[in-house]
Amino acid sequence: MSTPEASSGTPHRVVIIGGGAAGLELATTLGNKLGKRGRVQVTLIDKARSHVWKPKLHEIAAGSMDIGVHEVSYSAQAHWHHFRYRIGELIGLDRQRRQVHIAPFVDSDGIQVTPQRSFEYDTLVIAIGSQSNDFGTPGVADHAMRLETTADAQRFNRRLVNSCIRANAQSGPLEPHQLRVAIIGAGATGVELSAELHRTTREVISFGLDHIDPDKDLQIHLIEAADRVLPGLPPGTSAATQSLLEELRVQVHTKAKVEAVLPKGVRLADGREIPAELVVWAAGVKAADVLKDLAGLESNRINQLVVRPTLQTTRDDDIFAIGDCAACAWPEANGGKGGFVPPRAQAAHQQASLVAAQIKRRLAGKPLRDYRYRDFGSLVSLSDYSTVGNMAGNMVIQGWFARMMYLSLYKMHELALHGFWKVSLETFARMLTRRTEPHVKLH
Ligand SMILES: Cc1cc2nc3c(=O)[nH]c(=O)nc-3n(C[C@H](O)[C@H](O)[C@H](O)COP(=O)(O)OP(=O)(O)OC[C@H]3O[C@@H](n4cnc5c(N)ncnc54)[C@H](O)[C@@H]3O)c2cc1C
Repeated sequence: MSTPEASSGTPHRVVIIGGGAAGLELATTLGNKLGKRGRVQVTLIDKARSHVWKPKLHEIAAGSMDIGVHEVSYSAQAHWHHFRYRIGELIGLDRQRRQVHIAPFVDSDGIQVTPQRSFEYDTLVIAIGSQSNDFGTPGVADHAMRLETTADAQRFNRRLVNSCIRANAQSGPLEPHQLRVAIIGAGATGVELSAELHRTTREVISFGLDHIDPDKDLQIHLIEAADRVLPGLPPGTSAATQSLLEELRVQVHTKAKVEAVLPKGVRLADGREIPAELVVWAAGVKAADVLKDLAGLESNRINQLVVRPTLQTTRDDDIFAIGDCAACAWPEANGGKGGFVPPRAQAAHQQASLVAAQIKRRLAGKPLRDYRYRDFGSLVSLSDYSTVGNMAGNMVIQGWFARMMYLSLYKMHELALHGFWKVSLETFARMLTRRTEPHVKLH
């Protein structure tokens, strides 16, 4: 293990691991409020160089988002908001020495950029998010794509566009799996990706791929083991979403458990096979294996760190966990029966705000406050076709109002990162320069 990176002369060291919806907002807020005045040294560590808000990944996958407009460079954000950024992946923790261990960073050519390093902390915040859970299903690792990082989404998009170009150029008839996409998991990711693909593939084809008839040749299959799409949301939202998807002729298969992913499709537990050229695994959620038994911290069966209402981990007051990687009780869930805060962007946002305040309270020697998840409902974007969701109280909403609510969630994230004036000016500029021609590109 290398020597800990020097950080002398600082009164209190806050180390945040993971610069996603939760961690980057926290680093920015703490940097602006405390880092700027030198009251704390804030260090953000992420295994990536830049941040894209995860609910936007399906737009990258479908090719409808200009990444350059929405990508935030950690180095630049750190410079402007008074925190340090270090690249690398969390691989270990020493609670006695108060050090986190970070893997060497190796670039895409296999060249090592940074060595293995350790960072000392006084307060540690773990915010490394979650990933999909394939439950050990055969063939997923070899034949399915995931949608967890910008690179995953870009890879999917390249393969999608190449499939269209290949089909357009071939002289013989299409094979049964060609131009078919199977999306496994009809949660928000699967549903949003289905609708976005429906729209953007038509735009791609309209750019001169005239041998393809989208209505006849393209098929999107959405496969869900539960008895309805969006099983985590109220039944009214599921019903409204399913009928919109069916209007788009997305083939929805509910009560359909995937037994294996094959090189050219998916086999269901009832023996049916769905041919597909591209398979996306978007089901289940778990936290990274590194959190399982991390230096004796309590974790649950999906590797989330168990936290108290203050968002401190149950076995260490100096370590907080927030966002998808935290298991935080939600006593009001399920009509008062209790449950856990769901892995959502609004929870990450709320928890980042609370932990910024908790750290200030800790420094001032004040008692910490309890976190209460405020559920403002859930919204799912069906591309430009519609937005559907529920407000608190299970009221189903749809259309323009739902769209505005959906967009406001991302605006809140942008406001936390860039402040009111920058976001207002950029939003105004985007409105002025909004192009009328299709924005999907043949990359
Ligand atoms: C495709 C998709 C669509 C979604 N749509 C919605 C939606 O519509 N509404 C909604 O509320 N939620 C949605 N979600 C969920 C939402 O994105 C998450 O709840 C939210 O991003 C969680 O924030 P987080 O900070 O905990 O994790 P993330 O935003 O995932 O950030 C985790 C960060 O940690 C870094 N990291 C991971 N492991 C390590 C490591 N070992 N060491 C160092 N760094 C690490 C990652 O690079 C990343 O930057 C969606 C998720 C996906 C994938």
